Amino acid sequence: MVQNISVIGSGIMGRGIAYNCAIYGYNVTLHDLDKSALANAQHSIETLALESLEKGYITRVQKNLLFENVHYINNLETAVIHADLVIEAIIEKMDEKIDLFRKLDSICPEKTILATNTSSLSPTEIAAQTARPDQVIAMHFFNPVHKMKLIEIIRGLETSDETVQIIKKVASNIQKESIEVTEFPGFVTSRMNVLIGNEAMNMLMEGVASAEDIDKAVKLGLNHPMGPLELGDLVGLDTRLRTLEYLHKTLGEKYRPSPLLVKYVKAGRLGRKSGHGIYEYNKEVRT
Ligand code: NAD
Repeated sequence: MVQNISVIGSGIMGRGIAYNCAIYGYNVTLHDLDKSALANAQHSIETLALESLEKGYITRVQKNLLFENVHYINNLETAVIHADLVIEAIIEKMDEKIDLFRKLDSICPEKTILATNTSSLSPTEIAAQTARPDQVIAMHFFNPVHKMKLIEIIRGLETSDETVQIIKKVASNIQKESIEVTEFPGFVTSRMNVLIGNEAMNMLMEGVASAEDIDKAVKLGLNHPMGPLELGDLVGLDTRLRTLEYLHKTLGEKYRPSPLLVKYVKAGRLGRKSGHGIYEYNKEVRT
């Protein structure tokens, strides 16, 4: 049974996953290599809890659970020592994920399930670096985690049925719907979503319409809740670019990253998290 969840990486996704697991009663440790990222995550998690309580989205009991049950830990061994489930949410780079999963495999208890929140990479390749490939799986959350209902569950080649069942149960305990996906680059959602976002960047580059009008067209004409350019800024343009680069390599030409996206990332225009992406943001914005 899962009681203790360790989340590795306290960026946009890690902090959201930690928040969501804690308000539904899990004991959570949140780890990051970067102490300032961890402090920033604590501030944003606690601010979100207070705002959500005020708006009636969570109860006082849930707010208290969150303040009591999320532990912010800079040391990896300490963060995972009691973990029943580890959810990895670090940078979208295979070599960094492999390095982390090798470490996790050597320091976590034998029972621990290791999940990755990758947007596109292969859980089979990650699992193969460990001595427990049957207990490795991808659990793909969506941004912002506290609002988005879905988790894509992707089984690697060796993932056991028991691991899948345990992860489905955790997903339903934290009030998410889940779908089971057979591993393929980009799964279901990323594969479609990055194409729309990339096409929007190409249209912006070609001068087809302004950023505001491209987003407005997709919201009002296609009934998407967010425009693809504002969504790119929310996801992080660097994260979006890494996913496209991987899908370009694995699925071919239609995923070639827009030159404008590449240019923005080179300039450090990463979206909301850097204060400037396709749009400009107040530096305080870091949700
Ligand atoms: P982010 O850049 O906001 O945060 C990553 C965090 O991981 C940073 O705080 C960094 O310091 C930390 N980190 C990096 N290497 C580490 C390591 N070895 N050990 C501990 N901490 C480490 O990234 P993000 O947007 O939260 O994305 C994280 C993962 O989630 C990626 O795999 C991404 O593809 C996936 N994802 C992102 C989104 C999204 O909308 N941003 C949605 C679904 C999935």
